[in-house]
Amino acid sequence: MKKLLPTSTAGSLPKPSWLATPETLWSPWKLEGEALFAGKQDALRLAVDDQEKAGIDIVGDGEQTRQHFVTTFIEHLAGVDFEKRATVRIRDRYDASVPTVVGAVSRPKPVFVEDAKFLRAQTTQPIKWTLPGPMTMIDTLYDAHYKSREKLAWEFAKILNEEAKELESIGVDIIQFDEPAFNVFFDEANDWGIATLEKAAEGLKCETAVHICYGYGIKANTDWKKTLGSEWRQYERTFPNLQKSKIDIVSLECQHSHVPMELIELIRGKKVMVGAIDVASETVETPEEVAEILRKALKYVDADKLYPCTNCGMTPLSRKIANGKLKALGAGAEIVRKELAG
Ligand SMILES: [Zn+2]
Repeated sequence: MKKLLPTSTAGSLPKPSWLATPETLWSPWKLEGEALFAGKQDALRLAVDDQEKAGIDIVGDGEQTRQHFVTTFIEHLAGVDFEKRATVRIRDRYDASVPTVVGAVSRPKPVFVEDAKFLRAQTTQPIKWTLPGPMTMIDTLYDAHYKSREKLAWEFAKILNEEAKELESIGVDIIQFDEPAFNVFFDEANDWGIATLEKAAEGLKCETAVHICYGYGIKANTDWKKTLGSEWRQYERTFPNLQKSKIDIVSLECQHSHVPMELIELIRGKKVMVGAIDVASETVETPEEVAEILRKALKYVDADKLYPCTNCGMTPLSRKIANGKLKALGAGAEIVRKELAG
């Protein structure tokens, strides 16, 4: 990116109330058929407009065409039966009814490429597209076919790579893989999780990012966070290997987080999307609060590698609050840009 401190969001933004029930995960669509197709595109255009007006430099789709950041991708794959449900524990945190892997998984056709083309046509700004990472995908499924988390992750990595290459070819500037599971399954992440992530990103010439967070501000996550103690050092377990990986950017959370900022030092050399917006709080940050986080992060990241961002997606928030947070992010980054220039 040519601009210093280019801002972006981790991914999802709230959907308009005419498209889906607000402030809800997995919210059912309120439209059907052609109206739903048009409604998703309209929502995407609004999401772009909100970002641009707030001074967000790297624009995303706000995940307006998806119900959920993992499930919607998997719904488009063969080999997964959504009727056949099993209850599994998601990221060791809460039980959920999930679909079953019943055969070899494959991608019969592109999943998000048309949506990404639509986004590309809406803006001249650089665009980022988010995909779930292999390890986070396997964690939301019951596997009755491969019977091996690692094997299934490698299969998903190949599928993600096909999708990512097509996204790159239509002009996506940054492809981000979401891997919150890296903050839970450290040994697996180090044994094969980071390797499968690199497989998903293999051969890409656009920039690649991995987003590792402590999740949306939903109850299961906030309850889990209470068990983590006063210092969250989870990143310490995976950052040394991520630093050695081929992934260009690491997206992490900092605002109101118990993550010690100095852990960023472990990925020195990488670009860092620093979460300067707390998505688990309904209080809108002031630009100065955003600036303060960025100034602290600058001790551990070179200015040309610092990308101000949100801690995670903002789907569960109201649009008013999310918009306020976008503006605070844009304005906070501008304060620090001016300081660096002066
Ligand atoms: Zn996240």
